[in-house]
Amino acid sequence: MTPMLIRSLITLLVAIGVCVAPATAATTGSSATLTPIPLSRALDQLAAGRADTATLVTTGADAELHLYRGGRHFVADTTSALSAEAVAAARAGSVPLSIERPTISTDLGPPIDVGGGFSFGAWVQTWGPMLLLAALVIVSAMALRTVGGGRFGHRLKPVRSTTTFDDVAGIDEIRDDVAEIADVLKNPGPYERLGAQLPKGVILHGPPGTGKTLLARAVAGEAGVPFFSASGSEFVEVYAGLGSRRIRSLFAAARKAAPAVVYIDEIDAVGGRRTGHAANGEREQTLDQLLTEMDGFRTDPTKPVVVLASTNRLDELDPALVRSGRFDRKIAVGLPSRGARREILDVHLRERPLAPTADAGRVAAMTVGLAGADLAALCNEAAFEAARAGDSAIDLDHFRRALLRLSAGPERRSHVMSDEERRLVAYHEMGHALVGHLSPSCDQVDRVTVIPQGGALGVTISLPLEDRFLVTRTECTERLAMMLAGRAAEELVFGECTSGAADDLERASRLARSMAGQLAMAVPGTRESLLVGIPNDHADHQVDEVERAAQELLGQAFLGATRMLTEHRELLERGAAVLLEREALDHEEIVALFGARPGTDRLAPLAAETR
Ligand code: ADP
Ligand code: ZN
Ligand code: MG
Repeated sequence: MTPMLIRSLITLLVAIGVCVAPATAATTGSSATLTPIPLSRALDQLAAGRADTATLVTTGADAELHLYRGGRHFVADTTSALSAEAVAAARAGSVPLSIERPTISTDLGPPIDVGGGFSFGAWVQTWGPMLLLAALVIVSAMALRTVGGGRFGHRLKPVRSTTTFDDVAGIDEIRDDVAEIADVLKNPGPYERLGAQLPKGVILHGPPGTGKTLLARAVAGEAGVPFFSASGSEFVEVYAGLGSRRIRSLFAAARKAAPAVVYIDEIDAVGGRRTGHAANGEREQTLDQLLTEMDGFRTDPTKPVVVLASTNRLDELDPALVRSGRFDRKIAVGLPSRGARREILDVHLRERPLAPTADAGRVAAMTVGLAGADLAALCNEAAFEAARAGDSAIDLDHFRRALLRLSAGPERRSHVMSDEERRLVAYHEMGHALVGHLSPSCDQVDRVTVIPQGGALGVTISLPLEDRFLVTRTECTERLAMMLAGRAAEELVFGECTSGAADDLERASRLARSMAGQLAMAVPGTRESLLVGIPNDHADHQVDEVERAAQELLGQAFLGATRMLTEHRELLERGAAVLLEREALDHEEIVALFGARPGTDRLAPLAAETR
């Protein structure tokens, strides 16, 4: 059995949202070419922080807003007059935004009469238009160069990285691999004498936020060599030939500064599989240039250049890129385990005062599925929570709140709900919480509220207690029932349903579809279920079957939730009443209310006769 890594994330059931369709970007398609998007969308993305960097290129009254995210490059048409909007959105989403303006100077100065029969005014009248024309040609040529090339100039100046391996925590498994690269750079002699050839290219691959960029910086920092960094998307440009030119100049600069580290973030933007499509010609030319550089630099072994690159999608890289002699070393940087999370938290809590009651181990336990970047953000948010509460140290409760805020948005206590709506929300949330609490394999319910938060009017948050890499069918079906329990409670108590369950329904159908399709869990132990599960893009009837099986799973889950709530109606009533009174209940209060959770053996072998 191949262990399947299922990123078990915090299950957050957001109820009674105002039914806002989240502005999700087109996350499909992996081509790194320029994707045009509407301006409104671009601004939304910026404001939501869904871009790594952005650039506003203005040319006279026209402007283009470029968004770079995860190796992709989006562009929206706009006007200079709307620059302020882009700046505001970028600030709201804390996305670094730079403004580029081709320098066109039209200031010719006032006409001066220099005397001696020579009239400057007349001269200008005669020659002016022609000069102006010539100047315009020159200026626009320069402008084009600036737009295309100017943004890259700073990449050719290396930085001295001050990051060390101490800043990268929880990487015991790969520490030796990266330390060796730093060592060869620092001290190539012994390796050279033994004929050990320095790896030219090393690919760091893994999910976003796991510290790949940080590791690359640390390699340069530990080795004490210049660090050149660029992002794959910077080589994929609209202007023909520019990408390969940038590659060439980057490598030329690195060779001159050697020993050095060149880091190409999100290399899939250039290094994706070649398709031979004419539309991708520019990108492929860039990739070819990269391959040429990699093959070409058999430089002085005492002055090595190591190219580090990162990607979230190793399998999508062009095979030519990972062939030997190029990026032939691959280092997997995975999501941190509990121990690793603890170490990462320690790094980010180094200069933050921690209350004696808070302990990084507990925080590590409640952050299954979070990457290093998420943990860094969590520590920062927890510090803010402490500051907001006027406390002098960060305690566990601040972490809890921070986690909630990061996953559901800030609480909006000022949002006033009618009593009727509050009652409805209370039953809806208690429905989730009660079914979650009573289902042995659901994650522990950590908090339930009727406090408006983000786009929702109340939330139920459940956190896993341990790292899991497999989910069982039982866990999936119980989770489905918990997701639908909000709606089930509404119908049970009010005989009516609301738009608030929209988000629940969407998540539940997503889970049900993957159970029926990908995971082949629809009807366990049957050949049919497997056959439905084996995906085949071309067979419509199979798509229908997956859909039908998913519907069946959803129906069963909804029935199960309704049955459970009916059976425990008193608990539901009591829970909703207490929740209305206190606004928020945490895990301990939930246990006090409902009693201890039923325990379970997750994967107990069946007795021989029942098998
Ligand atoms: P990636 O390149 O894999 O997307 P980054 O290196 O950009 O991730 O990580 C972003 C930030 O997250 C880092 O600057 C650091 O603050 C934090 N971080 C990520 N992984 C770790 C780690 N292993 N140890 C400490 N901090 C980390
Ligand atoms: Zn809900
Ligand atoms: Mg990165």
